[in-house]
Amino acid sequence: MGTDSVPDKNYSFELFPPKTATGLENLQANVARMRLVEPGFFSVTYGAGGSTQERSFDTVDWLRSQEIDTAPHLSCIGSSTGEIRDILRRYMKQGIRRIVALRGDLPSGMGLSGAGELRYANELVEFIRTETGDHFHIEVAAYPEFHPQARNAQADLDNFKRKVGAGANAAITQYFYSAHAYYAFLDSCQKLGIHIPIVPGIMPITNYTSLARFSDACGAEIPRWVRKRLEGYGDDKESIRAFGHEVVLDLCRRLLEHDAPGLHFYTMNQAAPSLRLWRDLDLPGAERIEAGT
Ligand SMILES: Cc1cc2nc3c(=O)[nH]c(=O)nc-3n(C[C@H](O)[C@H](O)[C@H](O)COP(=O)(O)OP(=O)(O)OC[C@H]3O[C@@H](n4cnc5c(N)ncnc54)[C@H](O)[C@@H]3O)c2cc1C
Repeated sequence: MGTDSVPDKNYSFELFPPKTATGLENLQANVARMRLVEPGFFSVTYGAGGSTQERSFDTVDWLRSQEIDTAPHLSCIGSSTGEIRDILRRYMKQGIRRIVALRGDLPSGMGLSGAGELRYANELVEFIRTETGDHFHIEVAAYPEFHPQARNAQADLDNFKRKVGAGANAAITQYFYSAHAYYAFLDSCQKLGIHIPIVPGIMPITNYTSLARFSDACGAEIPRWVRKRLEGYGDDKESIRAFGHEVVLDLCRRLLEHDAPGLHFYTMNQAAPSLRLWRDLDLPGAERIEAGT
């Protein structure tokens, strides 16, 4: 793996903590393939208020045991400041230099009484800076199609600016399939005086049903023509994969031509879809991708 320095363009992979021993084996095998291209870092998601937290720590521990540059996600909702302080100390001891700071979402059924002391991501960023100074490179979330709970677009932009003002170094976006939404978001940020790198989050398309369900929940729009095509393929997984690859490849090309500062791949713990994009975009290290991927 490379050093902790931040190159001009940053290409990274996101993982989620597996639930089972088989899931863990799958993750380890897929990371082994993905690390060949020497990504900037692997990030690991973190669930608010639940058993997934231990699994996130286990995944981070394993990545660090492999000397892989790791960026744990950390969400504040549902946690006390004492708990967050302990986690920050743990990560500092592990030599971690990068964190993705989020509000998170409370699991359904958990009332607002469990919301915790820090209510929004800007408060978490401020807390991390107060506790740890400049130790961490802090990434925050950005929403080119706007956060589903935002009062309106301008309020969401103002809130994004607040996170940056609190000390975020960079942002990773929610995934999107409209390059124009990203360009318009960057323009608005420029006008607001926000100049941190805003790296597009890229979700490969491999399965229509789960993508549609997830997109509805997080407010990411699948363009109608893409939806219609995917629906039309029914159970034909190969056609979904081939069409999805072309759609996302074209998106990534446009974003990079428009000077996107990198790409963050939501891998869903599967190396192949992201590595195929990496290879066809000819990103650094593409020549090391295994034949047949
Ligand atoms: C790259 C990325 C990674 C993610 N990883 C995870 C993960 O690991 N675990 C997880 O649980 N979730 C994750 N999420 C989802 C995220 O937690 C949810 O989208 C959550 O609803 C919002 O988190 P946030 O950090 O963007 O919140 P915030 O920036 O706090 O924004 C949340 C909402 O509140 C509004 N708001 C913000 N600040 C204020 C304020 N001061 N006053 C009033 N309103 C405000 C915003 O406009 C927005 O509508 C991720 C999302 C992205 C894009």
